[in-house]
Amino acid sequence: GLAAGAHARSANYIEAIGMDAAGVRLRNTVTGAEFSFEADIVVNTSGPWTDLTNTALGQTSTFMGGTKGSHIVLDNPELLAATGGREIFFEHKDGRIVLIYPLAGRVLVGTTDLEHDMTQPALCTEGEVDYFFDLVKHVFPDVAVNRSEIVFRFAGVRPLPRHDDEAPGFVSRDYRIESRPLGARPGTLLSLVGGKWTTFRALAEHLSGDILALLGRTRVVSTAGLPIGGGRNFPATDAAHRVWIAANGDEVGASRADELLTRYGTRAVDVIDFITAEPDAVLQHHADYSRREIEFLAATESVVHLTDLVLRRTSMAFRGELSLALLEELAGVLAPVLGWDSARGAAELDLAVDVLRDRHGVDLTTVDAASASRA
Ligand SMILES: Cc1cc2nc3c(=O)[nH]c(=O)nc-3n(C[C@H](O)[C@H](O)[C@H](O)COP(=O)(O)OP(=O)(O)OC[C@H]3O[C@@H](n4cnc5c(N)ncnc54)[C@H](O)[C@@H]3O)c2cc1C
Repeated sequence: GLAAGAHARSANYIEAIGMDAAGVRLRNTVTGAEFSFEADIVVNTSGPWTDLTNTALGQTSTFMGGTKGSHIVLDNPELLAATGGREIFFEHKDGRIVLIYPLAGRVLVGTTDLEHDMTQPALCTEGEVDYFFDLVKHVFPDVAVNRSEIVFRFAGVRPLPRHDDEAPGFVSRDYRIESRPLGARPGTLLSLVGGKWTTFRALAEHLSGDILALLGRTRVVSTAGLPIGGGRNFPATDAAHRVWIAANGDEVGASRADELLTRYGTRAVDVIDFITAEPDAVLQHHADYSRREIEFLAATESVVHLTDLVLRRTSMAFRGELSLALLEELAGVLAPVLGWDSARGAAELDLAVDVLRDRHGVDLTTVDAASASRA
């Protein structure tokens, strides 16, 4: 069967579970295999789980005090039109900054700031949904929203520092780096406390600077200012965009090239190379994706579970585009690339159905029944 850790901690399959004289004990949560890894400096960047990880490493800490934030995604064309394409950030009645955000043809509504026990999964509750409907009403009193329009829910825990007196919504979003001896063997355990997506590069530079200092080395390469991923050479003007499409749309066509540029940035060049190397076909149950595109993601984006593909490598779940038939089709495309036999394929399908229902409020048995009755 699939390891429970894969449910508990998404998209990370090597877990630090202990520390002894041989080093940090690591476990592959898919295969269950365990091994030790020796290092002079161990860096704990496990986000809101940082204290749990330190405890597992034998260095109990109380650095973290993350708050849970939930979101819902609404398929409500009237609300989408009401936003006029604008991202609306505003102060709600409780003084918290909340958002109504048109995205990918849907409307994202969030968030909350609630204390959370990290040994439990973070879920978006009915009470939070009521809060979201209340804040939508606050801005758009004439637009009706209801629960049947929620296509996806998700919750995460912010990696905030412990806060004893401050109200959850007002805790500092700054970060710091804590240093401790490793304990079981000579060396240093660094813990990252806090941080945001918007600060990740500065933070990584700071953290790697601290590590270099501990190792007594000097930095030989700096990536400050280096564009990465799909942002590298991204065509930023209309003219540059036309040039890019003309240069890359020959084989797949201009509109498909444009779609892939939007989805992957300039990494679309690699996607186009891959999908045109062999015959391709549009997915039977999702007209915007092709089989070769899914194979590309499977081969290059560290996909381990079907849930990785639908929740994180694509926005299919986020947009409410999944069906049982699509999940089955995707599992069939992944199987030969990832070496799944039929039992593993079936287990992946079951896992995806469970995670979507239990974590994201998506019940695919009713989704399929509803689309069948509309058809
Ligand atoms: C509701 C919400 C809204 C947010 N809004 C914004 C925003 O608007 N702007 C912004 O910049 N940031 C925002 N953030 C913050 C941003 O998401 C986080 O700062 C960022 O994800 C932190 O990245 P990280 O890599 O440090 O931690 P994470 O992304 O949490 O990654 C930690 C990883 O460690 C893994 N892990 C846990 N335990 C172990 C172990 N024992 N061994 C190995 N691995 C382990 C976990 O599985 C996880 O993959 C928001 C967060 C939330 C929850």
